[in-house]
Amino acid sequence: MPRILITGAAGFLGSHLCDRFIKEGFQVIGMDNLLTGSLDNIKHLFPLKEFEYYHHDVSKFVHVPGQLDYILHFASPASPIDYLKMPIQTLKVGALGTHNLLGLALSKKARILVASTSEVYGDPLVHPQTEEYWGNVNPVGPRGVYDEAKRFLEAITMAYHNAHQVETRIIRIFNTYGPRMRVNDGRVLPAFFSQAIRGEGLTVFGDGSQTRSFCYVDDLVEGIYRLLKSDYAQPVNIGNPDEITIKEFGEEVLALVNNPAAKLTYKDLPVDDPKVRRPDITKARDILGWEPKVSRAEGLNRTYEYFKEVVKTE
Ligand code: UDP
Repeated sequence: MPRILITGAAGFLGSHLCDRFIKEGFQVIGMDNLLTGSLDNIKHLFPLKEFEYYHHDVSKFVHVPGQLDYILHFASPASPIDYLKMPIQTLKVGALGTHNLLGLALSKKARILVASTSEVYGDPLVHPQTEEYWGNVNPVGPRGVYDEAKRFLEAITMAYHNAHQVETRIIRIFNTYGPRMRVNDGRVLPAFFSQAIRGEGLTVFGDGSQTRSFCYVDDLVEGIYRLLKSDYAQPVNIGNPDEITIKEFGEEVLALVNNPAAKLTYKDLPVDDPKVRRPDITKARDILGWEPKVSRAEGLNRTYEYFKEVVKTE
């Protein structure tokens, strides 16, 4: 039975990855320090013998006894509000945490896939974003702690690949959504859904003309699975190229939730908020045979079912 370590296991993406790899017949070791994750996301796995859980901060030396075949490094605060609140932890998990896990991969002869982000493109001057674009990042702005940590993550991952022949994979994740997103993580989808359900104003930042391209979590997980199994060590964009303005996105959520008390309201645009974002997924298509399958209408329906429940029980 292959054995895989998943860091950030109690988070939104990490918990879906645990589910998927257990389904694929892996022994899964979930690791988290619960800074932004929640055991609610993985409590259904605790009775399974295929699942082990270690409470640990990967910014400190990581010890895992026994055989290890694969590592998925998904630990990090990931919403702009979270990494603004926790700038040092964000830098440490992206830098020191990645270093520790690459060292573990080297010593265990394990293949490691690290989670990078579309934030490495910053406020992009090339649209849509191809992997060849180097980005437009402000290192000392509020998003710099995340963007530069992830850029360092990519650099040190390539260094371990080149200097030590570690089998490495780098995914650049674009905006992803689905069940288990934290209601109050500050990201646009949990904010809009919870506000619409409660009959509050949906907080559109700026005039809402900035764009994002939202990928449903099951599609992302499939992309991660295929990338891990591939032999491609350069970064690969995984995301849904279906681009929409934030204002239109708010209108879609309003139409779905259909609460007459809810409406769009406008707030200041955060500093360095990227004006556009859309992945070029030619590489994912050609190398992995991957493309998203779940439309936004379908994905939003499924996600609404989740938020209805969690907002009600808050
Ligand atoms: N946004 C918004 N209202 C919110 C939260 C976010 O209008 O309550 C906007 C934000 O300014 C950005 C987009 O939605 O342009 C996506 O923000 P999010 O925090 O989800 O992630 P980002 O893509 O910026 O990392």
